[in-house]
Amino acid sequence: MTYYASVIVDVPAKQTDRAFDYEIPAKWHGFIQPGMRVNVPFGPRQIQGFVVEVKDNTTIPKTRPITSLIDIQPILTPELMRLADWLRDYTLCFTISAYQAMLPAALKAKYEKWLIATDLGGVPAELQPFFHASNRVKFEEMAGTSHFKTIKQLIEEDVLEVYYEVKDKLSKKTRRVMELQVSKEALLKAKEKISARAAAQHKLLDFFLETNTEKIDKKTLLEELQIGTSAIGALVKLGILKEKDEEIYRDPYENREFKKSQALSLTQQQQEAIIPILHSIEQHTHEAFVMFGVTGSGKTEVYMQAVDAVLKQGKEAIVLVPEIALTPQMVNRFKSRFGSDVAVMHSGLGMGEKYDEWRKIHRKEVKVVVGARSAIFAPFENVGIIIIDEEHETSYKQEDTPRYHARDIALERGRYHQCPVVLGSATPTLETFARASKGVYKLLTMDKRMSEQGMPSVEIVDMREELREGNRSMFSRSLLEKLQTRLERGEQSVLFLNKRGYSSFVMCRDCGYVVECPHCDISLTYHRSSNQMKCHYCGYEEPVRSTCPSCDSEHFRFFGTGTQKVEEELTKLLPHARVIRMDVDTTSRKGSHEKLLQQFGDRKADILLGTQMIAKGLDFPYVTLVGVLTADTMLNVPDFRSSEKTFQLLTQVSGRAGRHELAGEVVVQTYSPEHYSVELAGTHNYLDFYQKEMQIRKLHQYPPFYFLALVTVTHQELTKVVTVTEKITNFLNMQLSDEAVILGPVASPIARIKDRYRYQCIIKYKREPNLHEALKTVIEKYQTQMDQEKLAVHIDLNPYMLM
Ligand code: ADP
Ligand code: ZN
Ligand code: ZN
Repeated sequence: MTYYASVIVDVPAKQTDRAFDYEIPAKWHGFIQPGMRVNVPFGPRQIQGFVVEVKDNTTIPKTRPITSLIDIQPILTPELMRLADWLRDYTLCFTISAYQAMLPAALKAKYEKWLIATDLGGVPAELQPFFHASNRVKFEEMAGTSHFKTIKQLIEEDVLEVYYEVKDKLSKKTRRVMELQVSKEALLKAKEKISARAAAQHKLLDFFLETNTEKIDKKTLLEELQIGTSAIGALVKLGILKEKDEEIYRDPYENREFKKSQALSLTQQQQEAIIPILHSIEQHTHEAFVMFGVTGSGKTEVYMQAVDAVLKQGKEAIVLVPEIALTPQMVNRFKSRFGSDVAVMHSGLGMGEKYDEWRKIHRKEVKVVVGARSAIFAPFENVGIIIIDEEHETSYKQEDTPRYHARDIALERGRYHQCPVVLGSATPTLETFARASKGVYKLLTMDKRMSEQGMPSVEIVDMREELREGNRSMFSRSLLEKLQTRLERGEQSVLFLNKRGYSSFVMCRDCGYVVECPHCDISLTYHRSSNQMKCHYCGYEEPVRSTCPSCDSEHFRFFGTGTQKVEEELTKLLPHARVIRMDVDTTSRKGSHEKLLQQFGDRKADILLGTQMIAKGLDFPYVTLVGVLTADTMLNVPDFRSSEKTFQLLTQVSGRAGRHELAGEVVVQTYSPEHYSVELAGTHNYLDFYQKEMQIRKLHQYPPFYFLALVTVTHQELTKVVTVTEKITNFLNMQLSDEAVILGPVASPIARIKDRYRYQCIIKYKREPNLHEALKTVIEKYQTQMDQEKLAVHIDLNPYMLM
């Protein structure tokens, strides 16, 4: 009998987005299964592919044989393969891209395949010679043999274990670091001496001058600055930098002890929230819940007890938390409750570490995964609950192909496994809350905090008023006074600097003029050490001006204050305060994030100053004051969600205050105190915010009243971009109903990046059965041009970034 495998090949193109049949050589009969990757001949080339089906007939008259095996076991479950088909249709990607998105990066890199004998006595005689030297053997050594059936059986019986040894630098136990050897003064001197033409060396000097970094991973440094190794070499020769190897740990949690925690007895409010979830778990029915609970209402405890109920049924749990909230505190809570049953997946792990965590799931060694977005593809086969914490976080949307939202994947998997999906947030997205209001999702409300103190009081300070009254400092008088009181009482404060949206841009405080890059149409960023304005996208720079080119005002300065500058001013104003600064610079080293938080938790500092990374998930009993330095930087971003995002962020940050016995206070500094998102966040009034924002969305025809699709076209020539976008817009106009609103062609909010022009067309619609077909046609039509002329056409259904 001849067997055939249907294979989806790794060529992401329309013509190859289907299965091709190959013959399975006799030695692999019964060994090759769907979900394994193989190498196959494709035209003159050898390429990778995923086996999707094994069958004993084919309609193809002449098939070629599979060349070799990439996997020894299936790496995708039947459910995930089915999910990939769904993902393809729902994001308009190719099947192969959907498969790739589900796998850890390590499986796309170089690795060696090992077979490890867990029980040498169980290995049959014919295989014993392979294990004479040790209990592990490279799979390649078996390649020529005919033992595959036996091997498969031994793997199933757990006598043999498959291990992929990942060949990336990170999986090694050491890493290369660059260490600064000299003082800032010496760096500045070097800047004067080194020729201006040695741009890369200047970049390096600037980096160390601006960031206060003492030591940094070499690879990160090269990537970050986009420079070659020779510049580093030059500075090493001058004695400015030193290169060395430093030990790293493979398992980031392996050396830590977790105190075992017990389930707390639930409050009335928690009890009422968990009952419907437990019911869905017991009945094995799919139901979607929105857990609408204010910050500090005890949502996490409810999650953990629901997970516990699932584990008792012998099932598995997926818990998603936003990358930024994957703080050691959150991980600790799950690890202390569920111990070694937990795998943790986040971007701070190296490629090898991520593979190790994935492998624990794949081998069913763990029952719970706590992770960021991509953990939604955890290869569990018996999922009993999926929880998405901070459901409103935009990091759940993937911005590359396949452009999926983790919430949609969760609901799809929940339907498949007939299990509950819990979406938790103090500030659910309008889309989600609207569905809950309509009864599509079940609403679970927790409006009381665990602590007796209730929600913290919020004072909104108008910074324009401060300026008018002669206070030029970035601290309002009220905030400064409250910080002082905290110092006197020995309580702690958190200062939050909103850097999202704009970072350190220069704006005229009188007329609002912002300096932009001439190549990218985005505001330039201020770099202090060189006193230059730089573009983040293309590297363009120009000197800082002292007056506004538009109105000649002298109130023209560096606006989005950097954390470093805030720290300086703080130490001037409150010389006795002990300050911990947390931003990308102070946390670039592995583990430093955690160490800084630990110090703050141990009350070794009075003030924690930071960016987005401190907005979420922190729970410290002595924090009684939260100060938001600039509440409204995000309101200026051209995005219909900017009010929603501002409201969410302010609510999250305020939620860090007064979570335990001591009452909390919040000071929000803003230039737009009258804006409803600032005002309503101040009174913790989500429901009013929801009503107000819904009216605006309805008026302007935005989600949740309309669905959105975004088509973005980019190319070096403006005329090309305009004509193509125009053609696409016209085509869509013909294909869609009169109800659809098609906006475009218009320039994207960032109209140019790296001298590539960007045009877009936004489609707002309620029901358009033809839309997917029409968009598919668009992609197909431009594919050849995409390949030959570097034209790019991106389609994003339900976009989160309209830039
Ligand atoms: P949320 O996730 O809603 O912001 P948390 O789960 O962090 O809230 O809970 C806030 C605090 O209350 C935490 O310190 C938590 O340990 C505590 N807590 C939660 N549930 C209970 C309970 N049933 N009994 C006692 N303390 C609890
Ligand atoms: Zn001006
Ligand atoms: Zn630029």
